[in-house]
Amino acid sequence: KRVFEDMKALGRRYVEAACRGENIGFSNMHQLLTDIAQGTKKQVPCGAGLGMLAVDKEGDLHLCHRFVGSDQPTYGNVDRGIDVPKLARFIETAQDRTEFGCKTCRIRSICAGGCYHESYARQGDAFAPVYHYCDLMRDWVDFGVEAYVRIMQANPAFFRTQLEPRLARPGAAQPRPAQELAR
Ligand code: SF4
Repeated sequence: KRVFEDMKALGRRYVEAACRGENIGFSNMHQLLTDIAQGTKKQVPCGAGLGMLAVDKEGDLHLCHRFVGSDQPTYGNVDRGIDVPKLARFIETAQDRTEFGCKTCRIRSICAGGCYHESYARQGDAFAPVYHYCDLMRDWVDFGVEAYVRIMQANPAFFRTQLEPRLARPGAAQPRPAQELAR
């Protein structure tokens, strides 16, 4: 909670600067505003198992580096190759959160279920939301919506000059999710 409060303190500085036409470079705020401005609709929370796998010392493939050393399933091996059907089943299941609170959550399009490893570590299930983080995330996204409106009223050109060029830049670095920062 304290980390999120400090992120909001930094976020307020970001908004003040944006209203003056300056960008202080707080990348989490920048990403949140980009998602809000573009109407992002995520199907899965992150690139684990999609754009990324992690390899352990035996050569086995995990969803991401955090799952290395866990008792969670692996998805192939560097010698045998990626177990695509197994990975596909995981990703398909990740998109169906109907049995959890995500079903009716107002930030589902931006969060998409939260960090798999955080869920596994806290709830024993890679798909089960960590609900105390959910409250913090909803508060953070609400903060972002307020920030978006404030900047839009004071200096709408900010989005054109600061967000759109960043979106157009191939391979632009993505910030770590707020959930990860709060760990
Ligand atoms: S904040 Fe929680 S309930 Fe909402 S989409 Fe994310 S994980 Fe699901």
